[in-house]
Amino acid sequence: MRGVIERLSDEGLGVLRAGRREMLIPHTVPGDTVEVLRWRRKKRKPIATEFKVLEPSPIRTEPKCPYFGRCGGCLLQHLPYKEQLKFKAEKLSRYLGMEVEVLPSPVIYGHRNRIDVVISTSGVGFRRYGTWWEAVDIEECPVFGETSGKVLKALREFIEEEKPSLYDIRRNEGFLRYIVIREGKFTGDVMINLVTKEGNLPESFPDYFPFASSIYWSVNRTESDVSYGDVQRFWGEEFIRERLDDVVYLIHPNSFFQTNSYQAVNLVKKVAELVDGERVLDLYSGVGTFGVYLAKRGFKVEGIEINPFAVEMARKNTELNGVSAEFHVRSDRDVENLSEYDTVVVDPPRAGLHPKLVRKILKDEPERLIYVSCNPKTLSNNLSQLREKYRVEYAVGLDMFPHTPHVEAVVGLRKFDI
Ligand code: SAH
Repeated sequence: MRGVIERLSDEGLGVLRAGRREMLIPHTVPGDTVEVLRWRRKKRKPIATEFKVLEPSPIRTEPKCPYFGRCGGCLLQHLPYKEQLKFKAEKLSRYLGMEVEVLPSPVIYGHRNRIDVVISTSGVGFRRYGTWWEAVDIEECPVFGETSGKVLKALREFIEEEKPSLYDIRRNEGFLRYIVIREGKFTGDVMINLVTKEGNLPESFPDYFPFASSIYWSVNRTESDVSYGDVQRFWGEEFIRERLDDVVYLIHPNSFFQTNSYQAVNLVKKVAELVDGERVLDLYSGVGTFGVYLAKRGFKVEGIEINPFAVEMARKNTELNGVSAEFHVRSDRDVENLSEYDTVVVDPPRAGLHPKLVRKILKDEPERLIYVSCNPKTLSNNLSQLREKYRVEYAVGLDMFPHTPHVEAVVGLRKFDI
């Protein structure tokens, strides 16, 4: 099959059309003339696994990363940033049924504050695009920045000198499995978390990373390919810190934090701008990113979150910033009277709001809702249900994830009077 890529799919893959058939081609852009040599089906859609770009599109730009096209991390580095934003705005606008602007990330390389690097017999780096078993060797990840190069160099020295075994995912054998690198972009703190199978870690390990403020060793005893485990021990600081505006947050290897700090600042500010009244509920509060920021702005905040460890972190963040806010371990199915709040902020996982919560909102009718979403599809479904009593007053996209097809949305809703 050969032809010209006409657009990008929602997942950021080039779409090649022949009659009614559509083929998805990764790492291409509209205007590329391509020839597909091999393909397979992924979730019922045909996707090219081997292809040639016969004539590159004039809109292409040079990717900054030498691994682009092989590494499974980025899909859109060859698309000029303005075009990436256009693609995301078009996608979000289509799902929301209204014109929505997407605000650019202030930084588009070196913006990520976390990467999860595979350590394996097939390489130290990221998964090869389209595989779960192979890794592409990388020296530095430009999306994370220079510190990744320092950590990976030190890790390779450690491997060279101490000769620990590396994980073979097909056999479930070998010791070193992952190294997770995190960095407070506004504080300079660096954290590394080495994830291994059960075994003995050479005592010298922390000596290789003198520049890290916090060094962890975790064990994943399971066969599942995840980049976290039970903490065995740590050296240096228990937490690292990140700062968004005037609020400081603690980061632990087993806690989530918004991955693009430069844009996360704009996200919390945007939410704060949209809050009305005094009493605010932060639902799906995680480590308190919104809640603590809003408490610092003087709002009376409560948070609800199902993960007890995240709640513990949110409480620590509250104390660290000298504010008062209450965080509860509770499920979205068990929220109490929502009419007590002037504003309810929701930031659900990709699956969107639980149907029970949607019904609860429609019953209790809090005046103002702020919906933060990383999934336009479930956002759009939830909005169509909420439209029974709410109107969308404001919607904007924020690019938290440059070079990927993902887009974050913030929507301000208000109860309308009947
Ligand atoms: N607003 C937070 C994180 C949001 S991510 C921040 O910016 O840091 C979504 C959160 O929803 C996660 O912390 C997850 O643990 C939580 N969550 C998932 N299912 C839930 C449920 N059923 N009830 C309450 N919280 C849930």
